[in-house]
Amino acid sequence: MTDAIAAEHYIGWAEAEAERYPGIEDVAPRPVRAIGVVGGGTMGVGIAIALLSSGYSVTIVDRNPAAVGRAVDGIERTIGDNAASGRIGPDAAAKASAALRFSTDIAALGHVDLAIEAAFETMAVKQAIFRELDRVLRPGAVLASNTSYLDIAAIAAVTDRPADVLGLHFFSPAHIMKLIEIVRTPATAMDVIATGLAVARRLGKRPVVAGNAYGFIGNRMLAVRRQEAEGLLLDGVSPERIDLIVEGFGFRMGPFRIGDLAGLDLGWSAETSTGSTIRERLCDAGRRGEKTRAGFYDYGDDRRPRPSAEALEIIAGFARDRGHQPRAWTDEAILDRMLLPMIDEGAQLLAEGVAQRESDIDVVWINGYGWPRRTGGPMYHGREIGLADIEGKLAALGRTPSPALQTLARSDRPAPNPTSVQEPSA
Ligand code: NAD
Repeated sequence: MTDAIAAEHYIGWAEAEAERYPGIEDVAPRPVRAIGVVGGGTMGVGIAIALLSSGYSVTIVDRNPAAVGRAVDGIERTIGDNAASGRIGPDAAAKASAALRFSTDIAALGHVDLAIEAAFETMAVKQAIFRELDRVLRPGAVLASNTSYLDIAAIAAVTDRPADVLGLHFFSPAHIMKLIEIVRTPATAMDVIATGLAVARRLGKRPVVAGNAYGFIGNRMLAVRRQEAEGLLLDGVSPERIDLIVEGFGFRMGPFRIGDLAGLDLGWSAETSTGSTIRERLCDAGRRGEKTRAGFYDYGDDRRPRPSAEALEIIAGFARDRGHQPRAWTDEAILDRMLLPMIDEGAQLLAEGVAQRESDIDVVWINGYGWPRRTGGPMYHGREIGLADIEGKLAALGRTPSPALQTLARSDRPAPNPTSVQEPSA
């Protein structure tokens, strides 16, 4: 078996394993037919399309009437495109359109079995919505947030039913990306976790159960990679070189291309910017990502990235202000710095119980973040390199390996049993 085939075999096993949650085998999920989606922006629309395409009835609520209109148009257009391209049959498309309701009033959700909140990413907005959901939802309904980073327990705490609350973290575009992180708090009831898993399965997604920590599994590791990538910029390495090395490893896009695509101004505003990060300085200069034709790269009419002298000057000026001298980096050391601290973070997520299994972390990164499947995911890749060797390589990068990584390095590699994929779960 070649390395790539062995990795492929492993990840098939890991994806089946990720759907198992200890203690849940005999727990029946709550029945779900009607689902409310609160927030009709990018994520609300994608989530609604996924739900409608799988036969759920959906009521989408946005307090902004113009957003409701845009959401309904966007959902109808995608369902129409999917029917025209043969991805769904004409009957299914008609049923999906007929199953869509919309409102500007959250009271329209009184009948739903599950509500998924996908509004702005601030605790105050989410808590206000959950207070209202607690008031209007029927007893026994499940309350979910699609938050990317926020504390689900703090959101649940404003309700009188924290056992009914969980995170359902979809990835963008939500009707295409396979991953859903199912985030449980210590209070989340077992049948609510089972309900999250059942809905994810019906959507044809890859669910992974995660604990309630900042950024859960995926975004917490992403934050580490982003910090390391920006550290390399301070050392004078160009965004283009870093992206090329990460893409050479097998990611479709490097971190700076992704940043430009997502927009560098998430959380930035001209009024509050203090120019204290590279991203803020780029935004202050009007370089807010691909949408402004300028970010870490320049973009022409063809939307292809080109190295930007202006962005390089902004980065160099920022590094000078911080007293950083340019430093030579080999390609190999750049790749180590991009990948190995993430593996260390993965070990910490395991030690903290945020991730249940090493293989769950691999399922998250392959299905949510484009980690190349043929390398099996970050933890599998770490085991291939050898976790003890990674400790040495981290030390060479000036990092102290975490106690969690050191402990994991002394533990046996989990032995996947590929035949278990075919066995019915207990
Ligand atoms: P968005 O800004 O595109 O949409 C948010 C929508 O929520 C807006 O239409 C707004 O009018 C509506 N809204 C705000 N407050 C409301 C309220 N009180 N009641 C009803 N509607 C309200 O945002 P988005 O990118 O769709 O993100 C939504 C959530 O999903 C955030 O928590 C975000 O962190 C999370 N998320 C985003 C992504 C992504 O890539 N965009 C990925 C995963 C998770």
